[in-house]
Amino acid sequence: MESMADVAAPLATANQIAKYEAVIGLEVHVQLGTKTKIFCACPNQFGDAPNTNVCPVCLGMPGALPVLNRQAVEYAIQAALALNCEVRRKSVFARKNYFYPDLPKGYQISQYDQPLAEHGWVEVEVEGQPPKRIGITRIHMEDDAGKNIHEGFKDSDRYSYVDLNRTGSPLVEIVSEPEMRSSDEAFAYLSELKLALQFAGVSSCDMEKGHLRCDANVSVRPRGQAEFGTKVEIKNLNSFRFLKQAIDFEISRQVGVAESGGKIVQETRLYDPVLGETLGMRSKEEAHDYRYFPEPDLVPLLISDEWLARVKSAMPEMPALRRKRFAADYGLRPYDAAVLTGSRALADFYDEAAKTSGDPRLTANWTIGDLQGLLKGAGKEIEDSPVSAARLGELVAMVANGELTGKLAKDVLAKMFETGESAVSIVEREGLKAISDTGVLEKIAAQVVEANPKQAEQYRSGKTSVIQFFVGQVMKATRGQANPAAATEALKKLLG
Ligand code: ADP
Ligand code: ZN
Ligand code: MG
Repeated sequence: MESMADVAAPLATANQIAKYEAVIGLEVHVQLGTKTKIFCACPNQFGDAPNTNVCPVCLGMPGALPVLNRQAVEYAIQAALALNCEVRRKSVFARKNYFYPDLPKGYQISQYDQPLAEHGWVEVEVEGQPPKRIGITRIHMEDDAGKNIHEGFKDSDRYSYVDLNRTGSPLVEIVSEPEMRSSDEAFAYLSELKLALQFAGVSSCDMEKGHLRCDANVSVRPRGQAEFGTKVEIKNLNSFRFLKQAIDFEISRQVGVAESGGKIVQETRLYDPVLGETLGMRSKEEAHDYRYFPEPDLVPLLISDEWLARVKSAMPEMPALRRKRFAADYGLRPYDAAVLTGSRALADFYDEAAKTSGDPRLTANWTIGDLQGLLKGAGKEIEDSPVSAARLGELVAMVANGELTGKLAKDVLAKMFETGESAVSIVEREGLKAISDTGVLEKIAAQVVEANPKQAEQYRSGKTSVIQFFVGQVMKATRGQANPAAATEALKKLLG
């Protein structure tokens, strides 16, 4: 369907765009990771044979009654807390009526005027700008629809198929305030939201599997104007890259329309990743009237103080706080703190390793550098690292207290990665312990100096950087086992 707005003005130039401010609000759907669906006992599972995980309830058979899944509510509460929302003690399910082949009931069970949670926020940081809070208007629970399949069958040119396995999967919808002003802020908001929900453990938030879906509302207004412009809702943003591209395209399109004297039409548009453009889908006149009314088959959802308190006390530390703690308590640079909170598993791993080693900064280097390198090479995630956090911590401790040189520690870590052995046993078996004994090192240093009179002369005549050459020679003579600091000390003493 072509809408009027597509008979379009040219995209705006950078100069024209600079005269406007974009206003963006996101609506995000997250599939909760429960074992069963929200109102029945069917498995909540991705990838099974079509229409196998269904029952009379999720198929919407007359007379079949929904029963609310307690775990889904608990995950939804956790999602709300992870996003700094106030949880309402009473929320009400409502029917949202519309017709679509993937919706066998003819309505979605959602929440309307009394949602589960309200008044949240996410703090985002865009490079070069101060941190900014983006408000969350509301979080409500609802059931998912099925899937229409338009491709992949030999008669797909004539028919579409319907898979109802997803029908009745538990969702939360998270609606933001219109407080983002650029595609970068929208990107940062969605990243932080995803990370918080992953830390809370309520969803994998895997966008490829559709566990995280995002619609973007975009409008533009001349800079300095208080009122918002007319908004357009963009659907089908199934990656972070597409979210950013679609918003940037839409800003340019809308400014182009405004600058050529046109009017922006309130409508729903689809992002086409191949064209890199948004295309008109339906206008406001064609918008649904959902005829919401309270769901008669479910009682209001009441959350007791006791339940809420219990969920609250079991919440893990959220990524934003964790980054701050890593910086403050462990002295990490902001960049390292961000990398090490990239997932809850990585943050937990690093935390334990740092505590074991007693040297958090050195542990950060080894975790981000060598261990991640080995994991990447083996195609593994931190969750299945053959080197446990405690073992990495032990290795780092040996480096920190001079028992093992950094150079040899790299080899030891590679062996630990291969065999799962501890650093201590590898070092002992292979005789790799660092040589810190001054007597031993002085003797070796003396041999090295004697064998290289020219360099010794250079050092004594003021070219002190030659010390690196001598340290290298001592290392060579000890197969890398000399403690570099102790070796340098011994050499300096000898060379006067
Ligand atoms: P609707 O009535 O169309 O559902 P809402 O006011 O409920 O609109 O908002 C839906 C989403 O659109 C929210 O995320 C909100 O932040 C965002 N939004 C509202 N107005 C605008 C606007 N003028 N420009 C951009 N986004 C907006
Ligand atoms: Zn079912
Ligand atoms: Mg709305």
